[in-house]
Amino acid sequence: PPDVETLGRSGWTLLHSIAATYPTQPTSAEQSDVRSFMRLFARLYPCWTCGEDFTRYMASGNKPVRTGSRDELGTWLCEAHNEVNRKLGKEVFDCARWEERWRTGWKD
Ligand code: FAD
Repeated sequence: PPDVETLGRSGWTLLHSIAATYPTQPTSAEQSDVRSFMRLFARLYPCWTCGEDFTRYMASGNKPVRTGSRDELGTWLCEAHNEVNRKLGKEVFDCARWEERWRTGWKD
């Protein structure tokens, strides 16, 4: 399998890109799909300890996936990514700017 860092960069690119193309007004079927996807992604993610931590993060009573709109999903995911950034001693990302990074491009 790829190393944890390469896998991580690709994994986050996929997840943030899914948020960036998620509907602004998702149907209940679309919301249910993204919840299932996140749960299965965490279970199948080929860094097992990473996936287990992600599953715990999403568990009820903690921070369940927020699927009500593109901005909700993108912000939730940004916060989840920040949790991992903190754990690894990386810089925390400003979640007000998730869409600039992953959808619209940086404003200057
Ligand atoms: P990455 O963290 O991969 O980020 C890629 C790019 O995303 C950054 O360059 C930045 O532009 C942008 N970005 C950064 N933070 C945010 C944010 N909060 N919101 C939006 N965009 C952002 N590694 C471990 O060693 N242990 C773990 O337990 C672990 N768990 C992981 C769980 C998941 C679900 C995933 C997908 C990855 C996990 N990783 C884990 C990998 C780790 O998060 C990094 O991907 C890896 O260390 C490479 O880091 P990086 O510095 O290249 O940037």
